[in-house]
Amino acid sequence: RRGLSKNLSISSDSLAQSLNRGFSTETGRKLEGKVALITGAARGIGKATAAKFIDNGAKVVVADIDQHIGEETAKELGANAAFIACDVTNESDISNVVDFTISRHGKLDIMYNNAGVACNTPPSIVDLDLQVFDRVMGINVRGVVAGIKHSSRVMIPRRSGSILCTASVTGVMGGLAQHTYSVSKSAVIGVVKSMAAELSSYGIRINSISPFAVPTRFVLEEMSRLYPGVDASRLTEMVQNAGVLKGANCEPIDIANAALYLASDDAKYVSGHNLMVDGGFTSFKTFNFPAHAPDSV
Ligand code: NAD
Repeated sequence: RRGLSKNLSISSDSLAQSLNRGFSTETGRKLEGKVALITGAARGIGKATAAKFIDNGAKVVVADIDQHIGEETAKELGANAAFIACDVTNESDISNVVDFTISRHGKLDIMYNNAGVACNTPPSIVDLDLQVFDRVMGINVRGVVAGIKHSSRVMIPRRSGSILCTASVTGVMGGLAQHTYSVSKSAVIGVVKSMAAELSSYGIRINSISPFAVPTRFVLEEMSRLYPGVDASRLTEMVQNAGVLKGANCEPIDIANAALYLASDDAKYVSGHNLMVDGGFTSFKTFNFPAHAPDSV
């Protein structure tokens, strides 16, 4: 019996250790001492995630093509944020931001490949502009692959790291966006699965997040092209009304919370996953029967 009670106390100790893993009991912060690099973090989802990571004890490198807003964002986020200009379509820029992170903080724990653009192309495949297709794939897919390549370069020797990528509901279901954007986000989900197969052997996790529509600048610009003359608050309302979960709207903080979970040790056994943050939108479709049966069936 003594042996049993000893075993029980060992297992309760390891349970406590496991519960506290990566979680500072002093501060309650989930990314204490971690270093993160986020692309497209000057505004929108990336900025909200940078703020969330910093609140949870991380140091964050904000990488973005928009130098002006990027610098302002880093200033707003405070001493634990640093901005570096980066166009994700240039592999040398990506390589440079990873090296900058290492020289500043000595390591890279979390890489979030979030930069992405929408596109204004005609809706039919027959009219598809392949130059726009190449440009959008260059940012939304090649940029993500380059981010994974260069973060892996520094994570593999340490046998640890968490990589995140922003995909979209439009990459999971057809018909929600123009082909080019949908295809690019579908590819991101595939890229994550393919890379997980290799990176898991080094203890590195990689996951994607698929948000529903969030009325960030990128979406509002796209919406105002479709509905010229309609003001931003009405467009925001239209985006929010498209959701299926009543009583809540999809906001940047929802994606930031998902990113915090996936980046932290709370998700220590989650890899190759695409986390939907869509209020159930892609999980179901209800029958749309008329209120009354038609006269003749
Ligand atoms: P946003 O326009 O507010 O932010 C995008 C950021 O990416 C900007 O700061 C922009 O300057 C930066 N960026 C654009 N091209 C870049 C490049 N070549 N190199 C580096 N940075 C670049 O939009 P957001 O909604 O925050 O978008 C973030 C990500 O979320 C994107 O990948 C987008 O496709 C994805 N997403 C957005 C929604 C939505 O409804 N807002 C839904 C699903 C997925």
